[in-house]
Amino acid sequence: MSLLMKHLLKNKNSTTSLQSLPFKTVQFRCLNLLECHSKDLLHKHGVAVQKFRIVERPDETNNLLKSFNVQEYVLKAQVLAGGRGLGHFSNGFQGGVHVTNDRSKIHDLLKNMLGHKLITKQTPKDGILVNKVMVAESVDIKRETYFCILMDRNQNGPVLIASPAGGMDIEDVAINSPELIKKIPIDIHEGITDCTALDVAKFLKFEGQLLNQAANEIKRLWTFFLAVDAVQIEINPLVETSSNQIVCVDAKIQFDDNSEFRHKDIFELDETSESDPREVLAHKHNLNYIGMDGNIGCLVNGAGLAMATMDIIKLHGGDPANFLDVGGNVNENQVYEAFNLLTLDSSVKAILVNVFGGIVNCATIAQGLINASKKLNMTVPLVVRLEGTNVAAGKKLLENSGLLIQFASNLDEAAEKAISSLNK
Ligand code: GDP
Ligand code: MG
Repeated sequence: MSLLMKHLLKNKNSTTSLQSLPFKTVQFRCLNLLECHSKDLLHKHGVAVQKFRIVERPDETNNLLKSFNVQEYVLKAQVLAGGRGLGHFSNGFQGGVHVTNDRSKIHDLLKNMLGHKLITKQTPKDGILVNKVMVAESVDIKRETYFCILMDRNQNGPVLIASPAGGMDIEDVAINSPELIKKIPIDIHEGITDCTALDVAKFLKFEGQLLNQAANEIKRLWTFFLAVDAVQIEINPLVETSSNQIVCVDAKIQFDDNSEFRHKDIFELDETSESDPREVLAHKHNLNYIGMDGNIGCLVNGAGLAMATMDIIKLHGGDPANFLDVGGNVNENQVYEAFNLLTLDSSVKAILVNVFGGIVNCATIAQGLINASKKLNMTVPLVVRLEGTNVAAGKKLLENSGLLIQFASNLDEAAEKAISSLNK
């Protein structure tokens, strides 16, 4: 499922801060990594980032300070959302990014951040729990710029986006001073040429010896983008320091899910603790699942049919609890796991199975349902609409199973039955 579709389904902020820009943005399934993991990868690829340590408990402070002695520290909450600097914690503590040269303050800062939820413009309303804080050598910032490479469907390839007005929300820059944003399509075969890299470095207002340094950093970021199969790397800010260095101070990187097979090491860095646990379980069993807020659990084959099922439920006044596409090659065990997923969700008060078998075999769905129903002791009302390949065998299995199932012959009837079963 595309990111955009997920975004529309959930109708909540996506982690990418580029979503509302007037450019077409990434629409790939992708992995987001925490800043600390992204920076580790950047460092391995020769891109300049500051030194840092990760802390998970305030009582690690003493050991940390023994091994990590710098003049000024920056503490940054590690969550998959931007806008941390301007965010606040559930305990009222202000700011997800803190700069201090007072070592005695670090313990208290960590105490106020770890174990509390950080709320920013890009998090869900009640925030994201902070389990890790990056304690880094603070960068002596002279100037902040913005740099990004992303896959753009409109351009059928990557585009580079740059702005000398970094650090702040790029959405605001796009609205208030669009002349400060440069967007350059990149030929995937040519890559970012020396000439383009220098032009961008100039546009970012790097001067003198920094011009070449910036151009080299830009080319390294391009090489990195290709090497890791990224669909977006956003460096905001890309900083000029008072000692004439260029440093990536923040990094948001998204990786194409289709490349997982060749980047196992990167995908192992996924911090699924922030995701909906239902989605984590679904991913484990290769099921296309998005949790929603309603109470009618849906099990459908095909993304389009799953969307249509949700629409029809809505049309008849109900609320879907999820999007779930079991796909065409689904096996009995996956069907069992799909029902397990729906059963674990306490908000699910009825289940609607809508399978229109093209590739999928209705008997596989039926057998998976029977196994699940018996093993999971499913008690919620079950409405089934089965059509297509091997439907007669599928229906026979269900009819002989002794399960209490309401059958429907079309989608409207199925939705109506699922909704009315809620009130019984
Ligand atoms: P974001 O708010 O989630 O985008 O987090 P950033 O990492 O971009 O940090 C927000 C802002 O904090 C930056 O734009 C900087 O102004 C400031 N900041 C971040 N790291 C440092 C640092 O090492 N030193 C200093 N002086 N400021 C920093
Ligand atoms: Mg930032």
